[in-house]
Amino acid sequence: MPSDPLVAEHVLEFPGGYTRTTGPVIGRFLTELRDGRIVGVRTAQGRVLVPPLEYDPDTGEAVTGDYVEVGPAGTVVTWAWVSTPRKGHPLDRPFAWALIKLDGADTSLVHAVGAGDVKAMRPGLRVRPRFKPEAERVGDITDIAYFAPEVTSMVSHIRAEYRIQPGRSLARFLEGIRDGVFLAGRCARCDKVYVPYRTSCPACGSVIEEEMTLPGTGTVTTFAINNLPDPRAPEVPFVSAYILLDGADVPMIALLGDVPAHEVRQGMRVRAVWLPPGERTLSMSNIKWFAPTGEPDAEL
Ligand SMILES: [Zn+2]
Repeated sequence: MPSDPLVAEHVLEFPGGYTRTTGPVIGRFLTELRDGRIVGVRTAQGRVLVPPLEYDPDTGEAVTGDYVEVGPAGTVVTWAWVSTPRKGHPLDRPFAWALIKLDGADTSLVHAVGAGDVKAMRPGLRVRPRFKPEAERVGDITDIAYFAPEVTSMVSHIRAEYRIQPGRSLARFLEGIRDGVFLAGRCARCDKVYVPYRTSCPACGSVIEEEMTLPGTGTVTTFAINNLPDPRAPEVPFVSAYILLDGADVPMIALLGDVPAHEVRQGMRVRAVWLPPGERTLSMSNIKWFAPTGEPDAEL
């Protein structure tokens, strides 16, 4: 009968803590940290080591004793994401261990970056230290609680309510949209078909008298992939495109839907997807978006 392996549980602990002296170089670094500053030391070659070392790792020479304040901001060189922080980690939420090169330093130090989301991490990310409150600082690397990304965007809440009084041509076009058709105007002189419908030709100025109904199918001429959310779009990323309706001579802009953004291409054949008739109003939102028809791509 196999016997259980012998196991003994041990705890290694120095009651009161393991004390060692810092020496003058590390001591200076930690003292400055306690005062809310980060310093490096200059080598005989002129490089600035952060954190400082007593000897230049390149030459083995003693460093100069010339201390230089660096940062406090710096740049992430490389990083590893910690999705499940452990006891003793600097943050109790997911964070990155990062190699950070502080401004003015020639070497990098390892510290935590509280980026919030792994997607925020990248080499080159600019970060700044978050020091602990002064009364809690003791002269330890943890006097910097963590580094936080620099602010690069802000959200302003903007809401404007306004009414548009459509002119005769836009009103006519929207009547068509309410009925599920695209109304276009054809200039007899230029032989050009404009959609949305208009009453004068932008090319020659002639009055447009011929109204046409175009089918709700067309071809993508150009498009943009948008990564910022928009209340009209189904999801992010979404695609807005210029669509040349069949029979038209100018494209109109619209959302694309029912297709992954990376599959959209110039020449793609699309058709309008309408709201059900009972939900329609006199507005462009009657068109949910344009979706691929599945036909072969058109030549542009
Ligand atoms: Zn014209």
